[in-house]
Amino acid sequence: MKDLTPNNGIFEMPKLSYGALGDVISKETLLFHHGKHLKAYVDNLNKLLPGSGLENLPLAEVVKRSEGAIFNNAGQVLNHAMYFEQFNNANHEPVGKIKELIDKTFGSFDAFKKEFEQKGATLFGSGWVWLSLDAEGKLVITQQKNAENPVTSGLIPLLTFDVWEHAYYLDYQNRRADYLAALWQIVDWNVVENRL
Ligand code: MN
Repeated sequence: MKDLTPNNGIFEMPKLSYGALGDVISKETLLFHHGKHLKAYVDNLNKLLPGSGLENLPLAEVVKRSEGAIFNNAGQVLNHAMYFEQFNNANHEPVGKIKELIDKTFGSFDAFKKEFEQKGATLFGSGWVWLSLDAEGKLVITQQKNAENPVTSGLIPLLTFDVWEHAYYLDYQNRRADYLAALWQIVDWNVVENRL
């Protein structure tokens, strides 16, 4: 994705380009997840950055160079910016280069989805499941805890599902696996392809 850059030292809220997404993510979930949880991470980050020596860096650089509270908030802003950017009501099948890479690495789109969902379902506690590109140009699926982002391991992040309970609890309660399976209906693969 295009990295987020601060404007006069301030990161702005990543915009939502859609409202509720069918039966997959409700308006109520979006209101809390984007409007409250993400807003708190953005506000905290903007409070913590002045005097840290990390002011005015692009967000991914802040994530790579920070630890503690700044890392936690910067990581969560980057993770959520990518999460909310990748959903839409169209383009639900991989095409082009990302389709080629998925077929080559996992055998098929279905096999990839199964592994991605399984890694998301078995991540203990709060975190994110990611599809990334490694330095050799291969796709990898990783489980990242809490605010972690694959950029800290030198990977290029392509797709992520948030498995913090705040992402699904209002709509799916304890059924994390159902939430993960439903998200494929709203992934915009053009966005994912453009992150390659
Ligand atoms: Mn979240």
